[in-house]
Amino acid sequence: MKKLLLLSLVIIVSCSSYDGKIAGSSFLIKPSIEIIPVGNISKSRIEFVKKNLLETYQVEVTIGKGLPLDAISFARSSTRQGYTGIKILQRFSSMNSARKTLLLIEGQVFTRRILNGVTYPEWSILGLAYGNVCLVVPIRSKSRLQKVAIHEVGHTLGLPHCENRGCLMTDAKGNAKNIDRAQTEFCHNCIQRMRKNYSLFKNIK
Ligand SMILES: [Zn+2]
Ligand SMILES: [Zn+2]
Repeated sequence: MKKLLLLSLVIIVSCSSYDGKIAGSSFLIKPSIEIIPVGNISKSRIEFVKKNLLETYQVEVTIGKGLPLDAISFARSSTRQGYTGIKILQRFSSMNSARKTLLLIEGQVFTRRILNGVTYPEWSILGLAYGNVCLVVPIRSKSRLQKVAIHEVGHTLGLPHCENRGCLMTDAKGNAKNIDRAQTEFCHNCIQRMRKNYSLFKNIK
């Protein structure tokens, strides 16, 4: 029990997008999303993510051929059990601006994170985005999984973090509770931006 508690304390979540390569500025082509399971991901998790992305973005969402964990062994951390998120994303990034990829990764994923002036070289995360690719760790909590998946795809569609309280694009700042606080919807600003970038959410007022 003690071990479990310790583990859950260590797995602090965060989410960050890499600046400098944010996709989308004036693409009016309708985007599509491909989900690629990496490792042993249950079908129900994959379908759950697909359903939520479909409902939110109303674009084509497909499930690609699954990959074994060996496919990301190059990104394995040398110090901890898990993977360096940015290495995976860089490998899978593509120049196709309309095609978005969401990798569902079995196992822990880390990123470098600076919080209150302190640098954490391997901060455990639930999601990360880079250009047209994002990754999501299929956690057990369906509510968190739903929000993280929509949030990360939002980054690939050109949405930065949002200051509006409750918006899905709020930065979780390394705290899972912030994910719980966010609603399952975008704020007006984010919807406007998405409309401009991709003509999405046309039917939302
Ligand atoms: Zn984010
Ligand atoms: Zn927003």
